[in-house]
This record gives sequence, C-alpha cells and structure tokens, in this order.
Amino acid sequence: MFNALVVEKDDEGKTHAAVAQLEDGQLPDGDVTVAVEFSTVNYKDGLCIGPGGGLVRNYPHVPGIDFAGTVEASDDARYKPGDKVVLTGWRVGEAHWGGYSQKARVKSDWLVPLPDGLTSRQAMAVGTAGFTAMLAVMALEDHGLKPANGPVLVTGAAGGVGSVATAILANLGYEVTAVTGRPETADYLKSLGASQIVAREELNEPIKRPLESENWAGCVDAVGGAMLARVLGQMKYGASVAAVGLAGGAGLPATVVPFLLRGVNLLGIDSVMQPYENRLRAWQRIAKDLPMDKLEAMVQPATLSDLPKLGADILQGKVKGRVVVDVN
Ligand code: NDP
Repeated sequence: MFNALVVEKDDEGKTHAAVAQLEDGQLPDGDVTVAVEFSTVNYKDGLCIGPGGGLVRNYPHVPGIDFAGTVEASDDARYKPGDKVVLTGWRVGEAHWGGYSQKARVKSDWLVPLPDGLTSRQAMAVGTAGFTAMLAVMALEDHGLKPANGPVLVTGAAGGVGSVATAILANLGYEVTAVTGRPETADYLKSLGASQIVAREELNEPIKRPLESENWAGCVDAVGGAMLARVLGQMKYGASVAAVGLAGGAGLPATVVPFLLRGVNLLGIDSVMQPYENRLRAWQRIAKDLPMDKLEAMVQPATLSDLPKLGADILQGKVKGRVVVDVN
C-alpha cells in the first residue's frame, strides 16, 4: 500500500481531493515504476486537483504533472532499479496518473535521467515551471538574444516560471526587468537578480497604439492576454518574446504591426511534447545556469495533504515561487 492524492468526482460533477491509500495493482500501465520522492505545484496542477479544467478525462484521478524519484522496477533497458529520474509533460497528471503519489508507473520514453549535480528535490524545485522557463531562455538565445542587447522583461515574475526565468537570466548576465502584480515581492525578485520592478497595472491595459518606445531586448511571458499585446509593441527591433503562459488570459488583443515594422518574433514554448534531446539539453542547462542558492530561496515545502489548498491558491495567483511536495 502507498499514499496518493486521489481526486474523485461525485454524482453532481463536483470534484473532491484527499489523501488515500492505493495498491500497486491500481497503478496504470507503463514499463517503469518509480518510487516518487518529490513533486511540485504548477498552474495545471491547480486545475487537475480542482475542477479538472477539461484536462482530466477519468476519475478517480491522481494529479501531479511532474515528479522526481528512483526507479523501482523497469522493463526498459535504459533504466534499472536505483536510477534517479525526472518526469515532466506527456500529459502525466492529466490523462495519466501523476506524481502526487509515493509510486508512479509511466512509459520509459517520458523519463529523463536526473542530470549530474541536481538532487530529486532540486529537480522538483525547478519542476515543469522552471524547465519551461529554461526552454524559453534557450529559444530566445537561439533567436539571437545576448546580454549586450539590452534589458529582458519577465512577466508574472513572482510565479514559478517567472521566478526561475529571472534567476537564470540574471545569472547569465542579463539585465532583468520583472513585472509583478504583487509589490510586496519586490525584495524577493531583486534577490533573484531582477534590477527593475514594473507594476502589473502599467502593462495590462489594452493597447492604445500598436508601437511604443523600444524597451526590451527579449521577454519571457507567463501572462499572455492584454499584457503580451502591450509587450509586443515595446520590443526592440528584431527582438523576440517567448510566449509561455496564459495566467492573464488566453486572448491576444494585439496588432501585427510589431511583426511587420519591427521584425519582432513571437516564439511559442511548449514543455509537454518537447523531444527527448531538447529535454536533456534543458535539464543540463538548468544544472549549469540556475544558481542553487537562488532556487532554494524560491522554495516553500509541502506535503500531499497541503495540496487541495495549494491547488486553489495557484489558480488565484497566490503562490510565490516554487512549491516542493515531499510525497513521503
Ligand atoms: P504561477 O501561478 O506560479 O505564476 C503565474 C504568475 O502570473 C502569478 O504568480 C502572477 O505573477 C501572474 N499573474 C497571475 N494572474 C495574473 C493576471 N490576471 N494578470 C497578470 N498577471 C497575472 O504559475 P506558473 O509560473 O507555474 O505558470 C505560469 C503560466 O505558464 C501558466 O499560465 C501556466 O499554465 C503556463 N505554463 C506553460 C507551460 C508550457 O509548456 N507552455 C509549462 C508551465 C506553465 P505576479 O504575482 O508576479 O504578478
């Protein structure tokens, strides 16, 4: 028997999440069984712990879109018992049972060996949010971003994606401007390496004109919506925005003018279906480019029984930095 956070749906369609005991035989199909050590809380987890957001198909469900732990049994030659692994994406925790459990059974293709220099706890302090932040930074670099180009904007900065993006960019020598709706997080953001803080209200007004002054050499955007539309009009000539999230809305009330007159690039970032080689590259870059003392400063610890509240909090934008869930 082992513990997991199990979400049930009642006859009226309401979901209820609670810690319950499961047996090995209840685990879904897969060729690798992992003794999970740590998981975390991402925005999507908030949806899957709560109302489902159209992501969860079958109940009872075990959420947790990412985890790190030790291989317990494997039918795949690439993994053997005792190997340390990390998993993000592939709709684990949504369509497939996930990491809010002391055991998970998954497809070996979905796993990545834990990179040298990272513990399973650190890997989940990074989690899907931090992994995606790294993908965004890599995409900006692939499109020519260099520290000398000028300041880089990070939106939703006090959240998970934003916190990790801020710490990585600052460590790489970029001047980082952090956008936040929580002024009380200014000291925290500066401790991660932000040199300037911009209030959310300054950027989430609908655009009045398609082009404004050219302020930003790059942007990691976790917010979308009206803020992304504004930011596009403030990018320097030829600069790129990595679109990661939709915390402020899925719409994009923008014009194409920044693309046509300033050669601005909008780069889509998906973490779920990333090819294996790019996953490896991103995890290795995280181990190299994310200062572990800054990562530790983002962490709040949690257990399985804290998850129903944390799930609701992240949907309301109330979680600061990264939650690390010790499932044991
Ligand atoms: P968090 O909730 O930790 O961070 C989101 C941040 O956005 C908040 O902390 C807040 O930052 C800001 N925010 C929240 N609501 C609003 C609003 N209405 N208007 C403007 N800003 C707002 O979530 P994550 O960092 O984990 O994820 C961020 C986004 O990225 C989510 O939309 C998530 O779904 C997406 N995502 C996408 C992935 C991909 O593969 N593309 C992978 C992982 C995440 P502050 O308080 O500083 O203003």
